[in-house]
Amino acid sequence: MPVLTTPAPVAPAPAGPADPLSSSLAAAQRRSRELTAAIRADPRRFRVLTGDRPTGPLHVGHLFGTLANRVTLQDLGVDVRVLIADYQTITDRDSPGTLPADVLGLVADYLAAGLDPQRCTIFAHSQVEPLNQLLIPFLSLVSVAEVARNPTVKEEFGAGGGAAMSALMFSYPVHQAADILFGHANLVPVGQDQLPHLELTRTIARRFNERYCPGRPYFPVPDALLSDAPLVLGTDGGKMSKSRGNAIALGASEDETARLIRGARTDAQRVITYQPGERPEVANLVLLAALCLGQSPEQVAGQIGARGAAALKALLTDALNERLRLLRARRRELTADPGYLHQVLADGNERARQIATQTLAEVRGMMHTAY
Ligand code: ATP
Ligand code: MG
Repeated sequence: MPVLTTPAPVAPAPAGPADPLSSSLAAAQRRSRELTAAIRADPRRFRVLTGDRPTGPLHVGHLFGTLANRVTLQDLGVDVRVLIADYQTITDRDSPGTLPADVLGLVADYLAAGLDPQRCTIFAHSQVEPLNQLLIPFLSLVSVAEVARNPTVKEEFGAGGGAAMSALMFSYPVHQAADILFGHANLVPVGQDQLPHLELTRTIARRFNERYCPGRPYFPVPDALLSDAPLVLGTDGGKMSKSRGNAIALGASEDETARLIRGARTDAQRVITYQPGERPEVANLVLLAALCLGQSPEQVAGQIGARGAAALKALLTDALNERLRLLRARRRELTADPGYLHQVLADGNERARQIATQTLAEVRGMMHTAY
């Protein structure tokens, strides 16, 4: 079930001091349940910022990890802002000539999935200069050691000891803090891989408030909102990612979807069960089918049972193609009209620029750098 349809009857905790467990999955899932109830009770209290790198078309991991939640939040009346993180593509690659098409492709994916440009703001952060300027004060609020502890940064550092890593990749999580805080977002629907990044944003918000406006917090300390599928696996059993060649794109054809699912890794056990810890690849297929069908994963696993992986894959193929049918039709219409997609982005860029300009002016005032 989507996270927003299962509110837990727990009072929301105020965004408070650092929770040492908040980067752990279990704590983030608990918090997401509390937030779900709070959103339903008062959607206007929340402002969402979330986004994606334009490194290729969005995939099934995006849909169930965060995109479906963005649409639900929008439909509940939450102010939703969606960022295309184009500067973040040059953290680990050259700026390719395909970037303009990739950016428009993301806009098409968003609208096809149900984001409505009348009710949400879609923008590319390279076009919002004052947002990027916040990176400078924010860099002063964290140490090199703190950034180096971030798992993504650490992974890149890896064997090469950072020799091959760009300094922009190193500052990636700080840039993300600027993305989130420029518009005072307090809710960030993300996948599990983003939890450590968000932890650094929370630290930066707290430190800015303590240093420049003690007693009168200026930036909110934002929360992650996880879905029921915070880590969708790709066909090779690793995290489904645009850049790993293991993804099922939202815009893929039905035949391609069938082919990709047929090739997805499973395990040697015949009987299908839902055991995410012990059988992650099978559990992933079961969960995806369950999300498409609106059933529980246990129900789906029970339905397939001894019929095995081939039957599970056939069920998932039909369920996913059905779930994506309308989205794909809308996507085809939208991509036939690039002028409209450009206009949506230009309008969103302008709205984001207005917000960021005001934030930067206020930040300058608090930092005594307004002359
Ligand atoms: P790249 O390979 O270029 O890093 P990606 O597929 O990881 O691309 P991102 O643009 O990095 O996609 O991520 C955008 C958002 O989608 C983030 O909130 C991320 O947590 C979420 N997301 C990405 N992949 C998955 C996944 N497999 N399961 C759940 N959420 C995901
Ligand atoms: Mg990624």
